[in-house]
Amino acid sequence: MTRFSGDFFDGLTSRAHPVTASLEAGHLRIEGDGIAIAVPLDRVDVAPPVGAARGVVHLPEARELHSADHAALSELAKAMPSGRPERWARHLESRLGYALAALAVSVLIVFGGLRWGVPAMALLASHTLPAGVDRHIGEETLLLMEKISLSPSTLPAARQQALAHQLAAQCRGQACPPHRLLFRDSPLFGANAMALPGGTVVVTDALVKQSHHDEEVLAVIAHELGHVQHRHSLRLALQSIGAGAILVAVTGDIGSVTDLAAGLPSLLLQSGYSRDMEREADTYALAWLNAACIPPKRFADMLGRIDKDASDKASLLDSHPGTVERIRPFLAPGGCT
Ligand SMILES: [Zn+2]
Repeated sequence: MTRFSGDFFDGLTSRAHPVTASLEAGHLRIEGDGIAIAVPLDRVDVAPPVGAARGVVHLPEARELHSADHAALSELAKAMPSGRPERWARHLESRLGYALAALAVSVLIVFGGLRWGVPAMALLASHTLPAGVDRHIGEETLLLMEKISLSPSTLPAARQQALAHQLAAQCRGQACPPHRLLFRDSPLFGANAMALPGGTVVVTDALVKQSHHDEEVLAVIAHELGHVQHRHSLRLALQSIGAGAILVAVTGDIGSVTDLAAGLPSLLLQSGYSRDMEREADTYALAWLNAACIPPKRFADMLGRIDKDASDKASLLDSHPGTVERIRPFLAPGGCT
């Protein structure tokens, strides 16, 4: 028979009543001056003592029993009916090791979710969303970029057409993803090219002007077609909304398309693509250039030149990091395939 002393609080005043408590036939019996109550154990809740503090037994009607007799409180906790969920929680709480392990697991789940889960869901969503959705996001993004940082191209129409014709000729000879080529002037973007969701490829005037050969422009466009092929910008937009991507993937809800488009320009400009995505686009470009019988070195030449000139403004390289490492495969002699 467990018997222990403590202070009883009646839930009405802050006064402590010295009492003795005992366990009796499934009840906690509390007795003291003018106090005689018996509470069924299934209506009792024991908060384990923390350090040297007294343990608290919660009773119905906001009444409490405080006791420093930790051994007796432990007995009381053990005597309580099994199967109450808080007992299990209390059991775990009382073991620091479990608590720390639970914390570590939580951190891993959140970290893993952000590092791998969200990109994986974004990849899934990018494949399950109908093509019309990314076209719509791409149009929204382009409108936004035109408002902020893109103006009509100042390149002669003949120059634009010549480049467009060369691209079209290449895409008759090999499979290109559906795309649309646009030239735009943008002091902010500098020498740059971007692939928007839905296949719109924007090439800036500065990039064309810095090229020494049309094939250099085509090589950059080939890289952007790689981003189009793998729907990278859509994945980027989906990743940026994080867990929201999961909702889009699961529900196919496209109500938030405008929100998706809103953040994309800055993402595309601020090294938004992951290295894996860049590698995928590079691999696509290398195969494309070989199929087109364009020396892969054209891509390396263009990137290297932009790299030198881009000390103080946003450039293709800001969104395409690790230039030296990246251009290496393009320096090997290409072969027409
Ligand atoms: Zn890229």
